[in-house]
Amino acid sequence: MYRMPRGTRDILPEEQSHWRYIEARAAQLCQLYGYERIDTHVFEDSRLFVRSIGEETDIVQKEMYSFSDRSGSWLTLRPEGTAPVCRAYLEHGMHSRPQPVKLYYITPIFRYERPQAGRYRQHQQFGFEAMGDVDPALDAEVIEMSWRFYIGLGLENLVLKLNSIGCRLCRPRYLEKLKDYYRDKGELICTDCRRRRVTNPLRLLDCKKESCLSVAESAPKSSEHLCPECCQHLDDLRRYLGFLSLPFSLDHTLVRGLDYYTRTVFEIQPPGERGPQATLGGGGRYDDLIEELGGRPTPAVGFATGIERVILNLREQQGSVPDLPYPTIFVAYLGQEAKEEALKVASQLRGAGVGVLLAYGERSLKAQLRQANASGAKQAIIIGEEEAGAGVAVLRDMVKGEQKSVPRADLLAMLVR
Ligand code: AMP
Repeated sequence: MYRMPRGTRDILPEEQSHWRYIEARAAQLCQLYGYERIDTHVFEDSRLFVRSIGEETDIVQKEMYSFSDRSGSWLTLRPEGTAPVCRAYLEHGMHSRPQPVKLYYITPIFRYERPQAGRYRQHQQFGFEAMGDVDPALDAEVIEMSWRFYIGLGLENLVLKLNSIGCRLCRPRYLEKLKDYYRDKGELICTDCRRRRVTNPLRLLDCKKESCLSVAESAPKSSEHLCPECCQHLDDLRRYLGFLSLPFSLDHTLVRGLDYYTRTVFEIQPPGERGPQATLGGGGRYDDLIEELGGRPTPAVGFATGIERVILNLREQQGSVPDLPYPTIFVAYLGQEAKEEALKVASQLRGAGVGVLLAYGERSLKAQLRQANASGAKQAIIIGEEEAGAGVAVLRDMVKGEQKSVPRADLLAMLVR
């Protein structure tokens, strides 16, 4: 027996209503805010991710699905959605379009992580990116949009966390302060963090280990070491979020797991103390990324959320989603001649846009009606030997159990009505 690879999941038909509904809501939301869909392919040049996500991040160090293809190109299955969108922005000359360029995606993401509830090795992300404007009103719009996505699905009691991690001008000074603080904390932090003190000090604040969390709690705060421009940006953003009545709180340990962020970072978390691993979604500004990938300076801001986590939280909060349409008419028959008529009736109805389930094989009428019941059909069209030759069919109301004979030529008009 072959099994799903560890950390992956099949999405069975009974789960599809959640998926289709959430993806449709995402698309509607994007339309409201003027974001257009982009689909990039599943694999990219690995160097794109190493460069953008950062060599010292967990994703690049431990989690990428990378391989060389037959011509020796080094490729990676998309471990996050922003870098491919920036690559596409550059490759297709989108800087010549009206700015900001606003794009969204719904796409599989691959990370070799330790699987657990809500954490998979392939998951689906909905994300959106606004490229080409530095206005904190755009950050506010992205945050409002993210918030509205969850609230619109019926999720409640969510927590919105915000921080600013500064820019390339003010961050180096802050990192020095952080290193100073951590200098004598070697005993208190994990091995990875001891390494991070040298390689990537900002990541110290992001460590999920219990001991490291408490050390991070008292660390110097980036928002208190911003340059005047970053300070103004954060102040404006806070004011705008206030206007929009978004209930955010500042969290100075929030830095996000990817290196490309500048200034604004934010996360939306479900209620309860479940730690950063339970985060519903997050995003922020990445004002230097497009330039680092070879473009002209292009400030940008974006957000991404995992659809599996959204579904997990919807289920926990007993949120409901509409059922997907399914045929409510079942066509049953008895005998060869009737079978041919049944095929015709089913084809005619489907051709007119009416969903129909058809019986197969030579089962008894009783067995076919049991099958109709099990399928949830509201009505059955029954063509027996007698009906076949007489141009009629029996129309049975499966709920009330009542039935009547109707001319087959009238079936379509009756059912459409
Ligand atoms: P990130 O790109 O790490 O900021 O992740 C954005 C969102 O994707 C997270 O908030 C989660 O909702 C979701 N996510 C990230 N990693 C996983 C994973 N391994 N399995 C399922 N969902 C994930």
